Amino acid sequence: MTTINSKIPQGPLSEKWSYYKSHQKLVNPANKRRLDVIVVGTGLAGASAAASLGELGFNVLNFCIQDSPRRAHSIAAQGGINAAKNYQNDGDSVYRLFYDTIKGGDYRAREANVHRLAEVSNSIIDQCVAQGVPFAREYGGLLDNRSFGGAQVSRTFYAKGQTGQQLLLGAYSALSRQVNQGNVKMYTRYEMLDVVVIEGRARGIIARNLVTGKVERFFGHAVVIGTGGYGNAFFLSTNAMGSNGSAAVQVYKKGAYFANPCFAQIHPTCIPVHGEFQSKLTLMSESLRNDGRIWVPKKKEDAEAIRTGKKKPTDLSEEDRDYYLERRYPAFGNLVPRDVASRAAKERCDAGFGVGASGLAVYLDFSDAINRLGQATVEERYGNLFQMYEKIVDDNPYKTPMMIYPAIHYTMGGIWVDYELQTSIQGLFSIGEANFSDHGANRLGASALMQGLADGYFVLPYTIQNYLADQIRVPRMSTDLPEFAEAEKAMEDKIKKLMSIKGKRSVDSLHKELGLVMWDFVGMGRTKESLETAMKRIKEIKKEFWSNVRIPGEADSMNPELEKALRVADFIEIGYLMAIDAYNREESCGGHFREEYQTEDGEALRFDDKYSYVSCWKYKGEDQEPELLKEPLDYEFIARQQRNYKA
Ligand SMILES: Cc1cc2nc3c(=O)[nH]c(=O)nc-3n(C[C@H](O)[C@H](O)[C@H](O)COP(=O)(O)OP(=O)(O)OC[C@H]3O[C@@H](n4cnc5c(N)ncnc54)[C@H](O)[C@@H]3O)c2cc1C
Repeated sequence: MTTINSKIPQGPLSEKWSYYKSHQKLVNPANKRRLDVIVVGTGLAGASAAASLGELGFNVLNFCIQDSPRRAHSIAAQGGINAAKNYQNDGDSVYRLFYDTIKGGDYRAREANVHRLAEVSNSIIDQCVAQGVPFAREYGGLLDNRSFGGAQVSRTFYAKGQTGQQLLLGAYSALSRQVNQGNVKMYTRYEMLDVVVIEGRARGIIARNLVTGKVERFFGHAVVIGTGGYGNAFFLSTNAMGSNGSAAVQVYKKGAYFANPCFAQIHPTCIPVHGEFQSKLTLMSESLRNDGRIWVPKKKEDAEAIRTGKKKPTDLSEEDRDYYLERRYPAFGNLVPRDVASRAAKERCDAGFGVGASGLAVYLDFSDAINRLGQATVEERYGNLFQMYEKIVDDNPYKTPMMIYPAIHYTMGGIWVDYELQTSIQGLFSIGEANFSDHGANRLGASALMQGLADGYFVLPYTIQNYLADQIRVPRMSTDLPEFAEAEKAMEDKIKKLMSIKGKRSVDSLHKELGLVMWDFVGMGRTKESLETAMKRIKEIKKEFWSNVRIPGEADSMNPELEKALRVADFIEIGYLMAIDAYNREESCGGHFREEYQTEDGEALRFDDKYSYVSCWKYKGEDQEPELLKEPLDYEFIARQQRNYKA
């Protein structure tokens, strides 16, 4: 039987990481130059890792699909990044950040990983300030903080509504310095198509030059995957159009486990879907819940009047408004975690209180904040978000409440990694949103940037050395080795097969069909029946895709339709993994809500005795069902409880 070793160090929780760092193997400076590390991805995780490994003296090859590392999806992050600095003196600490994250993830994350994350959070802020990241400051010049969901303290550092962009510019400048020094070689507009495994170890990648269409081979003593999340399996999501799960599927098919695929996050504050031809959803940052209050009409007739345009939200008096989050969760109010806020919005809309033409929207109202603070202050805090909303919806949110509805936003599941961020393939590591991460079944707001930068700046640069120290005698391998040739040929054959189908369906139409199945049957509420339907429908979509997709153009030149087709083929695989994982997990936890399993007041009902594990899916071959392996989650330091945000 395969046993899963998460390699968690012994000892007290707060000493595990220091113990690890003082006992791991190191690589001396002269040897570092002789070791090649491939880093795939230039988002916050990939760019910070490539820059740090370059700074240490390794020879780094860094890949991304965009024309500049700066265009990675991380640039879209709006609200902020968490750290346990306790600048507000409001009771924060490393332990509290650790505790909030474990609880926020509904007790489905590893204690040791999460504690390490909380420990290094403060160093991230210092690192970024040193790079010149322009975090917001208070009048006195100190760094400012705001609050995010699932916390009762203010620990979120931010740069207006553009935190991801500013952090990425910081990481990019560190990366550019290493490129300039010759330690990092950048490969922009290259898409990884496969990992090359030689004698059980990752030794390189196959990548397609997206400009020329040429498929090429690259050697590395180790390979790091930082390719982001797979939320676009739902077609409509807040992720960038290019975000994809392909590298995760490629390494899964080569033997890396895919962990907790069904843990996907639905964000409560997005601009509602407004038409059939839409290909993207827009996030309204969670930071808005600091000052915005969420409500729907108390009476169904008012909701109906608003839906039909007979009344405006501003016509309703205070008594006629139901601030349902404040009513249901007095202790956390509008700042409950995302899974809780999303389900509460769905519950109100399903019960007939939704607004907007479709009835699938709730209000996010700033009138109180504007009266209390003045419009100028609100504008200072969220100006760019208000502007974005007005441009998309053509409504002025300073005057009329915003309309919002939940949408797919983030994936907690991903490539399984141990404490060292190494996958089940030796020498293959994964960082950032691409790995199954430290967020359990639900990520708290502002914790993805923290995790991506923790992995890249402060964790991987240590842990990868523990592996590379044993590789110093391994010479650079030739990419003429048969394993490289076979992997390249398999990819060329796959592309030829796709191009030769010449069917009738566009790639997008199939992606959209998959997305609808995912949203309807593997979305915010899942049941045994809906998941059975999903698995059946996804198999049909796969068959249709591989027999009827049409890809115009040629394979040996720039071809965005071919790029999309390769990604959609992988989204179909991921969709199936999500459905089977959700089907297997007969409990509700965090973002995974099985409607059969809920408490009397509609909260997620966990079964710790049966499901306190990380589900690790192992590939068993084309058209075979994957095998489920389980990594038990032992809670040594925190007593698990039913999550409570009411009192
Ligand atoms: C609208 C929005 C707002 C958000 N706001 C916040 C926030 O305020 N705070 C927070 O903590 N989190 C936020 N998040 C989440 C956070 O932005 C992401 O989780 C995080 O940026 C992911 O970083 P990453 O480096 O792991 O991946 P990404 O930034 O997605 O980068 C992936 C990289 O991999 C490359 N790549 C992908 N596939 C391939 C391939 N096959 N070959 C080669 N290269 C490849 C891409 O080119 C890119 O460089 C937000 C998310 C969204 C969608």
